[in-house]
Amino acid sequence: MKLPLWYPPILTYHCVLPIARGNTPTVSVDTFEKQMRMLRNYWNPVSFEQAIDALAREKWPDRGVVITFDDGTEDNFTHAFPVLAREKIPAIIFVITGAIGTPGFLTAAQIRTMRDAGIDFGSHSDQHDYLPSVKSEQAAQSLNNSRKALEQILEKPVRFISYPAGGHTAEIVKSTRDAGYAAACTTNRGFKKFPVDPFALRRITVHEQIKSRLALALLCSGYGSINRRLRPPH
Ligand SMILES: [Zn+2]
Repeated sequence: MKLPLWYPPILTYHCVLPIARGNTPTVSVDTFEKQMRMLRNYWNPVSFEQAIDALAREKWPDRGVVITFDDGTEDNFTHAFPVLAREKIPAIIFVITGAIGTPGFLTAAQIRTMRDAGIDFGSHSDQHDYLPSVKSEQAAQSLNNSRKALEQILEKPVRFISYPAGGHTAEIVKSTRDAGYAAACTTNRGFKKFPVDPFALRRITVHEQIKSRLALALLCSGYGSINRRLRPPH
C-alpha cells in the first residue's frame, strides 16, 4: 500500500516499556515489535544521516522512513534496542546529556554498546532546556556542552540534535549551527514535502494505537496532520 508522501516520515518515540502508559507517548514492547516488523517488511528504514543527505538532494528514498527517540531513557537500551538489533533497523537516539547515568536514563556504557551495534546518537540539549525561554548565552552553552559531552562518550562527532519540546526560533537555529550541528529536529508534524529545512525537521509521534499496516501507512504519509488541520478547532 503506497500513499502519497506529504513530508518525509521521521518518526518519534520516547519510552518503550512492557506496558504502555496512558499519558506520555509510550509504546509497549509488543506494539513496538509489531511496528518495527511492519516497517522492516513494507517500508525502508534509513539512518538519520542517509535521510539528511537525501533531503539535501531533495530526493527521498523509496518508502524511506527514519526512526528517532527523544530523551534517552534507559528503556531505549533494555526494551527498544533488542528489537532494533533483531530487525536490523537503524535508529537515532537524542539524549539529554545532563541526565546520562542518572536513574531512569541511559548510562555511558549502554550508549557505547548501542553505538557499537550501529545505533546513532544526537543531542537533546544538556538539561532538556526549552531553548526559546532561556537566555541566548545559556542556550548556546546547552547546545555546546551537550554536543561535547556526547562526543566524549561516543568518540566521534555529534552532528544532530532534537530541540527539547521542539522549541526553536531563528536565533536558536543560528546558535545550533554555530555549535557545530548539521541538522535539527522539532516535534511538529510534517505538512509540506519539499524543500525541507534541515534545522527544523518535522516529525511524527508514534502512539500505542498504531497497530495495523493501514494505520502506520496513514501516519507515515502525513495524512494525520492534514486531517488534524481540516478538523474544526476545539
Ligand atoms: Zn524531550
